[in-house]
Amino acid sequence: MLTREIRLKNRPVGMPTADDFELATVELPKPSQGQVQVRNVWMSVDPYMRGRMSDAPSYVPPFALGAAMQGNAVGEVLLSNDPSLKPGDLVQSMFGWREAFNAGANQPRKLETHGLPVEAFLGVAGVPGLTAYVGLLHIANLREGDVVFVSGAAGAVGSMVCQIAKLKGHKVIASAGGPEKTAFVKSELGADETIDYKAVPDLTGAVAKAAPEGIDVYFDNVGGNHLDAALANAKTFGRFALCGMISDYNAASQPTGSRNIFLAVTKSLRLQGFVILNHMNLQPAFAKDLAAWHAAGKIKWRQTVFHGVEQAPNALVGLFKGENIGKMLVKLT
Ligand code: NDP
Repeated sequence: MLTREIRLKNRPVGMPTADDFELATVELPKPSQGQVQVRNVWMSVDPYMRGRMSDAPSYVPPFALGAAMQGNAVGEVLLSNDPSLKPGDLVQSMFGWREAFNAGANQPRKLETHGLPVEAFLGVAGVPGLTAYVGLLHIANLREGDVVFVSGAAGAVGSMVCQIAKLKGHKVIASAGGPEKTAFVKSELGADETIDYKAVPDLTGAVAKAAPEGIDVYFDNVGGNHLDAALANAKTFGRFALCGMISDYNAASQPTGSRNIFLAVTKSLRLQGFVILNHMNLQPAFAKDLAAWHAAGKIKWRQTVFHGVEQAPNALVGLFKGENIGKMLVKLT
C-alpha cells in the first residue's frame, strides 16, 4: 500500500517553517514474519520535538535528516504476521508522523482503552498526564496547604497540573496566554487565580497580586520571565518542578539565564528538573488515580485537532504560537 510520511528536511534556526519539513509517499510492503502493519489513527506533536529537530546533544537523539520523524501515535493493526497482535487491535507506538508502518510485533504496545477515547492516551491518560502527576506529586512533592503556581496552564501538561492540585485541595494560580485560555483554566479546571501573561505588563507583580502570601510550589512549563516571577514570589523552602522551558525552544542563540536565580540561595529553594522517561515506574499509580478521578467525573480535558499527516508540521509549529487549548493532536484517518 502507499502511505505518506513527514520527513525532516532542514535543521531549523529559530521558529521552524514549512520548508523544514517534506511530505513523502512511500510504498509499504506486506509485513514479513514477526511483523505487523499498523494504520495510525492519531499522532501527537509535542514541544520536545523541536529539540530533536536540532542536532544539539540531548536526552533523546536528533531526528535524522531525510528520514520520517518520530513520535507518539495510536493506531489499528491492519495485518499481522505474529500471534501476539491481531487485525483490529489498537496499539500505541513511537511511529508517528506517518500514516502507516510495518514493525516487529514487539514494538507497538497493545492498548487497552478502559472506556476512554483512544486519543486520550496521547494526552490526559498518556505522557502529558503522567508528567503533570509526577512533576507535581513526586518532584515538587506537593504538601498540605501548598500554594501552587503553574505556567502553560491551558496546555496538555498544565491543564492536568491545575486539576490534580485542585483535586488535592490547593490554591492554584495559573498563567496562560489570552482570555480564552484563562477562562478555560478558571471555569473548567477550577484555578483560583489566573494570569493572562500576554496582557500583564509586570508578570512578577501579577503573581504577587494573585498570591500575596507567596507560592510554595512552581510547576514550570515555560521558563524565561515566568521562572523569574516564580523565584521572586516563592516562599522560603519553596519547591520548583522544572518540567519545560518552552519560551526558549526556538531561541536562535543561547538564551540568557534567569536574572534572579540568586533568590534560590537566599530563600533556600529546591529547583529540580525531570524527564518523564526516568519516572515510568509511576505509570501504574497514575493510571489507578486517574481511573478513580475520571470515574468520579473530576477530570476534564480538551484537545486541538489538525487533520491529515500533511498538517502535522503546522500542528507542531502551532504549539509555539499558542494555537492549542489542551492537547495538540493530528487526526490521521
Ligand atoms: P502545551 O500543550 O502546553 O503546548 C505548548 C504551549 O506553550 C502553547 O499552547 C503556549 O500556550 C505555550 N507557549 C508556547 N510558546 C511560549 C512562549 N514563548 N512563552 C510562553 N508560553 C509559550 O505543551 P505540553 O503540555 O505538551 O508541554 C508543556 C511543557 O512541558 C513544555 O515545556 C514541554 O517541553 C514540557 N514537557 C516536559 C516533559 C518532561 O519529561 N520534562 C514531558 C512533557 C512535556 P500559551 O498560549 O499559554 O502561551
